[in-house]
Amino acid sequence: MQLDVFEALRLRAHPIEQEGLQHPRGWPLNQGAPTAAAIAFNISVRRFSIGASWTEGGIEMNLVIDELPAAVPAGSGDACTLDDYLTLPDHSMDDRIAKARAKLGATTILLGHHYQRDEVIRFADFTGDSYKLSKIAAETDAKYIVFCGVHFMAESADVLGHEGQQVILPDLHAGCSMADMAEISQVEACWEALERLGLTESLIPLTYMNSTAAIKAFCGERGGLVCTSSNARAAFEWAFARGKRILFLPDQHLGRNTGFAMGIPLAEMAVWDPWAAQGGTIQIGQIQIGPSTGGQTRAALEASRILLWKGHCAVHQRFLPSHVDQVRAKYPNIQVIVHPECRWEVCQKADALGSTERLIKIVEDAPAGSMFAIGTEIHLVNRLARRFAAEGKRIITLDDTGCLCTTMYRISPQHLAWALENLIEGRVVNRIQVRPSVKHWARVALDRMLEVG
Ligand code: SF4
Repeated sequence: MQLDVFEALRLRAHPIEQEGLQHPRGWPLNQGAPTAAAIAFNISVRRFSIGASWTEGGIEMNLVIDELPAAVPAGSGDACTLDDYLTLPDHSMDDRIAKARAKLGATTILLGHHYQRDEVIRFADFTGDSYKLSKIAAETDAKYIVFCGVHFMAESADVLGHEGQQVILPDLHAGCSMADMAEISQVEACWEALERLGLTESLIPLTYMNSTAAIKAFCGERGGLVCTSSNARAAFEWAFARGKRILFLPDQHLGRNTGFAMGIPLAEMAVWDPWAAQGGTIQIGQIQIGPSTGGQTRAALEASRILLWKGHCAVHQRFLPSHVDQVRAKYPNIQVIVHPECRWEVCQKADALGSTERLIKIVEDAPAGSMFAIGTEIHLVNRLARRFAAEGKRIITLDDTGCLCTTMYRISPQHLAWALENLIEGRVVNRIQVRPSVKHWARVALDRMLEVG
């Protein structure tokens, strides 16, 4: 008997959620973040047998055959099997999604991130960046929140949601490479090392929204908070009012760009590399402390006001200073606007930087005839190009060789139709649930963010 890999991974997620342990791709959390081999497995293997077990990257993998009845109820019919949807063309989903959406009415809200593909975002009740969508998720009374975004966004919606609300991520594979770069055990090891060095006394942990709920909870429990690219500066100011040093997770670029804009020199921002943690030791008197030093010397750690986690967005890190030079050479009057997840060197060359909401506002407010090269995800850039063409504004991407968020792209019309039609049948598929102990402190950190504004 064969089982589609997507369905299989969903089955794997089911028992884990029951235990309050879950991972975007269904891997048990006690095995840590998925290894490169595990991720490669997700992409490359299409079908395998129920009951199979195998080893990936030193991790033993097992499919649980007795989960099948719980995940695909008897008599559910073909309409509720994801495989049947995945073989159908995108356009054939439009009517089905529209009808399902109408039938679900006010019980359900569809949230769409700006980076979503057009075939999906057109059905969203609200669109926005992660900050705007998290506020909407916190305020809605809808019973079901279908989040067309990535896993950490759905987690945040679950944390901020009310009792009885259920959050659905149409495809559990829609993760975020940046969020995966800070694994909770690595962050705990970092904190312990800093504690031994006496550097946590006035250290405020601050995490970007693009992180797991466990990381958010870690920050909340230690007096820190969450920020987005919309309110990073306000969050930094909040943190500096309470401590003299920030540990910023997981995006080094947003941290560096925000700190620099506040007047903090680059020399006072050290990068903590969790993968270099095995390499260094620190001598304190007769005692050697190590090996968790994040690849830094003690002097560098002490001199820093911001400790930047070595993470990045695979999409935004693609943009290079040479791209800015090239578009300026070709179009002398062009304005270059970029997202602060881009490298510092790119941001320094840009005319403006800001969250997706701010980038949209800049284009909206510009006079007719303006031309922009935008450094952010390609779906948003293309959508803006179409929207503002009628106003005589020209918009191009800063790098035309491809800046696609492949994980956002995983939310397909087929996944959306499958999730909605299952809801009509009374089945909640791909529910994202954060376990209560994590939820409490993650909520504290998110509430602080919402208070900061
Ligand atoms: S654009 Fe980058 S940060 Fe945003 S979801 Fe995709 S990988 Fe993550």
